[in-house]
Amino acid sequence: MTTTIMRHPDPVTLMGFAAGTLAEPLAAAVAAHLDMCETCCAEVADLELLGGVLMINAEPPRDEAAKAVVPGRPIDCVAEDVVRHADPSGRLPAPLAAAFRLSVDTIPWKRLGPGVWHHRLPLSQGATGDLRLLKIAPGRVMPDHGHGGAELTLVLEGTYSDETGAYRRGDMQDVDETVEHTPVADKEAGCICLIASEKRARFKGLVGRLMQPWTGM
Ligand SMILES: [Zn+2]
Repeated sequence: MTTTIMRHPDPVTLMGFAAGTLAEPLAAAVAAHLDMCETCCAEVADLELLGGVLMINAEPPRDEAAKAVVPGRPIDCVAEDVVRHADPSGRLPAPLAAAFRLSVDTIPWKRLGPGVWHHRLPLSQGATGDLRLLKIAPGRVMPDHGHGGAELTLVLEGTYSDETGAYRRGDMQDVDETVEHTPVADKEAGCICLIASEKRARFKGLVGRLMQPWTGM
């Protein structure tokens, strides 16, 4: 089934990815989106051609996981290792499945609160930010939160909506610290998404404050 992806990362984010200057969690989320989005994949390939000089100065990934999830050229996301460790169901983007040896059915979810589960993905030593999978039960509202930097959300299953509209499989929401939003999972399907932040998310309100100490969010 072909999914039409309507929501893409900001062009500046794609440029940062092509130049190798994005924080590791953001780069991982963009790599996962590229695996699902031909439009952005082609755009990054063009940017890389234009930005060859920048690429020379980019820092190489620091460990094996980062190498797999942040390929030098996204077109090559189908490197041998990525194919070998891909999610057999094809539901998890190949670079993500390969880097973290996961499929949608083997994610070790931890309960974060009523109707919300998460799994934090390990980053390279010294890398900053936050990369996690989040599962939201049908109709469940996430605690209101602002951001201490850029945040990318990639929908892997189901749908969620917030003040800016609806996001479906493959769609990516690209927000900065000025945005505060309240995502609500689809009433029937719920939602599984990948969330990458430059910094830790700041949850607000009573639920957020109660959750903070024991979730680390
Ligand atoms: Zn795209």
